[in-house]
Formats: sequence, structure tokens, C-alpha cells
Amino acid sequence: MFNKSIFKQQRLKFMFINLLAFTIIFTIFSVIIFSQVQSTLYTKTDEELLSMKEKVLDEDEGFGEGNFKPTPGEQNVPPNNHPRRNPNPRIIVLNWDQSGQIINEAEIGTAYYENYFQDYELDITNTDNITTTTIHDAYHFRYILFKDNNPNDDVAYIQLMINVDAEQTIIANFVKLVTICSIIFIVLSISASIILSNKMMKPIIASWNKQTEFVENASHELRTPLTIIQNKLEMMLTAPNKRIADKFENIALSLSETRRLSKLTSDLLTLARADSAETELVLKEVHVDSFIETVCAPYKEIADSQNKQFWLNVKSQVTIRADESRLHQLFVILLDNALKYTRENDSIGVKAYTEDQKIVFEISDTGIGIKNENMKYIFDRFYREDKARSRETGGMGLGLSIAHWIVTKHKGTIKVMKNQHQGTTFIVKLPK
Ligand code: ADP
Repeated sequence: MFNKSIFKQQRLKFMFINLLAFTIIFTIFSVIIFSQVQSTLYTKTDEELLSMKEKVLDEDEGFGEGNFKPTPGEQNVPPNNHPRRNPNPRIIVLNWDQSGQIINEAEIGTAYYENYFQDYELDITNTDNITTTTIHDAYHFRYILFKDNNPNDDVAYIQLMINVDAEQTIIANFVKLVTICSIIFIVLSISASIILSNKMMKPIIASWNKQTEFVENASHELRTPLTIIQNKLEMMLTAPNKRIADKFENIALSLSETRRLSKLTSDLLTLARADSAETELVLKEVHVDSFIETVCAPYKEIADSQNKQFWLNVKSQVTIRADESRLHQLFVILLDNALKYTRENDSIGVKAYTEDQKIVFEISDTGIGIKNENMKYIFDRFYREDKARSRETGGMGLGLSIAHWIVTKHKGTIKVMKNQHQGTTFIVKLPK
């Protein structure tokens, strides 16, 4: 219940963050494209307006100095009402007088003037800047308004205008396209956010569940020996006058449970440190053959004492870079198991050889073996094939998890298979 609401909250948070990130990226992207399209569309128009403005001002300057010269073929018109030459058919020139009236309606064309500019008013708030205006709420013009320099005419302001309805249509279509794309994008990004947040949460949920299971198992494993010790101590307290010799069994059992507890806590600590990636390997050169011989020596003695054969076949003659104490721990786990899960007259063997760029260790026994269907679980934490039997042998199902971690940390592999005749073989491969 608690987990579910936390995961739900976290999932929503991830979803919201993803959605926000997508939206910000898309908005920036659209704004850049939109402003780029708009400025590109108006660039040509604006250039035309500016070049025309320059021409007009140049002409006016000529008039101002009193050296107006009509171009050949043009009538000699008095300078104060001469028709302006307009080499650009796209540009409409509006001449405004001081009172805000258009005084060149004939030049514009009477019909054109009456249709579009009759009600148009002079707006001098924005001079010398290119701006967009809309006439009759339908016709869009790009224009520049500037003061007239010619003192010899009645013109106070000149306004150069270009109709940009075509450009506006393109922009309007583009806005429509961006809006449709935004809607599609929002739908897509919501779906993508849901999928992504689910994907992001999956490993978190899995590792949370694993961690919870680990803590539950660990508490369970810790509780059993503690209960046994508590019971035994309480029983001894009921007869305080008895001698130690009389309570020998209780004391021995309590001691063995204490050892179990101590081993369990140290295994749990190893795995907890492995999980938090806290433990680093201390690598050094290890001569494989002599290392194995040293590790196996005490096991050979124990095997002899239990009437089991112990054989060694180590002729690799290689040196590897490894953490010697971790490698030792690995062999102890595998050899302990080999001893635990074999009976009298069984045999245990250790082989080391090189294969490609790897060194291979095989630890095999002719013991009770592992059922095929259980092989995939044996590296799981707290997995024991036979829980009752493992309790007798002192196993808690953590050894092989630690072995797996040690091998993986050395960038190697570990696998288990049936021994040729009977029993189990563990094959460890480490890089040379
Ligand atoms: P345990 O402490 O119980 O031995 P391990 O993680 O070392 O825990 O082993 C997990 C389980 O794998 C054991 O409980 C046992 O069932 C099985 N197993 C491990 N090694 C052997 C082996 N050599 N022969 C048979 N079964 C084995």
C-alpha cells in the first residue's frame, strides 16, 4: 500500500518531468522556426522598403538644394507637387500633409485610394521603423513612415507600403500547421511520458522489491538462531544450581547458533557493501597454481578425515591480476559447499587450465547434485534447495550469491552444471 502510493507519486513525477522537458524543447524549436520563417518572409519586403526610402530621401535632398532636375522625358513639374518616381510597382507611396491628409490620391489611383486608404489615419507614433498594419481588418501591409525633407512641398510624412497578404497567408498556414503539430506532439509526448516513466520505474520497483525481500529474509534468518539462543538461556535460568556439564548440550547449541549468527551477519554485510558498490577490489598478481594448492590444503585434510577423495589438477602456470582475499573467499565458498553436499567415499576435485584469454577453474564433486530445474535459482540470495537439510549443514543460501558477486566483480563468469557422472561442477572463468 505504502510502496504503491510512493511508486505512483514517483511515476507521476517522472511523467511530469518528461512532459515538461518535451514541451520546452518543442516550444523552443517552434519559436525558432516560426521567427525564422517570419523574418525570412519579410526580409525581401523590408529591403525593398528601405531602398525605396533611401531613394525618396535622396530625391528630396536634391529638391531641397534647389537643383531639381526632371529626368529626360518627364514634364517640368513644380517641385512642391511633382509626382514621385516609383520604380517598384509593389510599393504604394502615401504623402501625408501636416493635418494628416493624404495628398497624392491621384498618384495612388482614385479607386485604390477610395477602397483602401480613405479611412486610413496617419499614425506618427512609430516613425522610421518597419511595421505591419492591417487595413479593413483584412489587408496586411508592411510599411515605413518617415518625415519628408523637402521644404518646397506640402508633404509632411511619407509612408511606403507593400501589401503582404501572400506572406501573411503563408504565416497563418504555418501557425495552423504548428498548432496541429503541437496537439499531435502533446498527445505523443503524454504517451511517451507514460511509457518512459513506466520504463524508468521498472528497475526501481524491481530493486525495491528485491531489497524488501532481502531484508525480510535476513530478519527471518537472524530471528531463528536468536530464538534458539534465547530459549536455551531461559531454560538454563530455570535451574540455576545445575552444573555446566549438565547443561552441556544447551551451551553447545547456543554457541553453534552464535557462530551461525556471526557468519550470517558477515555475509549480509558483504552483500550490502556489494550492493552499494562500496567494496573495491585490491588487485595484485596471483600465481594461480600455488594459490590453489594453498587454499585447498586444509580441505584435503578435512576430506581425508571424512573419507572423501580430494584431487587437484592445476597446471595452468599463469599469473592473474585479482583480489587474493576475495579469490580465497570464492574458493572457500565452493569448497565448503563441495564438502557439505558430498557423502562418505565421494570425491571432490579442483582443476585449473587456460582457455583463450581466460583462466578456468572447475570445482567438482560427486555429491548429491542439484536438480536441473533448481539450477537457475542457486545464485539467488537465501536460495536453498533443501531448507531443512541446509539448516543441519549450516547453510543460509548466501554463499553462492557472494561467489557470483566476486566473479562478476573480477569481470568473469560462473556457472553450474551436472558433474559428468554424479554431483555438481562449478565452472569459473576469469580474464587472464
Ligand atoms: P548454502 O549456504 O545453503 O550452501 P549457497 O548459496 O552456498 O548456500 O548454496 C545455495 C544452494 O545451492 C545450497 O543450499 C544447495 O542446495 C545448493 N548447492 C550449492 N553447492 C552445491 C553442491 N556442491 N552440491 C549440491 N548442491 C549445492
